[in-house]
Amino acid sequence: MFTIFHQKQDIDIFFSEKKHGPMRLKQPNNHQNRLKFLTKNQIPTNQCCFAQLSHSNLCRKVSGSSKVQFIKGDALLTKATNLFLFVTVSDCLPVFFYEPEQKIIAVAHAGWKGIYLGIIENCLQAIKKCNGRLKKTLVGIGPGIGSCHFEIKSDLAKKFKLYDQCIKKVDNRLYLNLKAVIKIKAFQAGVLSDNFENVDLCTFCHPERFFSFRRDQPKHVQPMLAGIVRYKPS
Ligand SMILES: [Zn+2]
Repeated sequence: MFTIFHQKQDIDIFFSEKKHGPMRLKQPNNHQNRLKFLTKNQIPTNQCCFAQLSHSNLCRKVSGSSKVQFIKGDALLTKATNLFLFVTVSDCLPVFFYEPEQKIIAVAHAGWKGIYLGIIENCLQAIKKCNGRLKKTLVGIGPGIGSCHFEIKSDLAKKFKLYDQCIKKVDNRLYLNLKAVIKIKAFQAGVLSDNFENVDLCTFCHPERFFSFRRDQPKHVQPMLAGIVRYKPS
């Protein structure tokens, strides 16, 4: 999915698609879908950590453990190896981070609210707090809603007025480019453009491949799993 991460032998990125079924943590009948996806990717469940999301700006540091972990927050970060960090997304953006010197990985669930509240800045701060260098940090945005389908009202446009270059007006409707907002925030914090990648896949635009909350308007959200791991060097 990404080129910046795939040059790194020890890093792996995971993203489930519609064909794998919905992956909602709170939905007991989604449990089998998760189990199947993990097994297919040879991921031991007792080395997984799942974020319990609340559209917050919380980035939580996780240490290795031999049981399944569930942690409240919208981003997870670790220096541990063979620990698989997961968030779920359905239009919200999965954002992956890797600092190769201090060997820090992180993944964030970033919707407009989390982005507005500072989830991206908090992930980058947390990397710095672990002595990571943002000039070395790789940042990748996975599939999520594109500006083509993220129509907003004027109240939200006001919240993002610092980023008005990311708001487009088409036929009197406003569209917000959240991926561009993330890019600006990352660059302002010191991430280099060579280390930044946006896969530029809109979940709404690809009904055959992705769930989209805005498009499908399901009774229960049908999220996809987004994960990252750093393997122990063999
Ligand atoms: Zn779209």
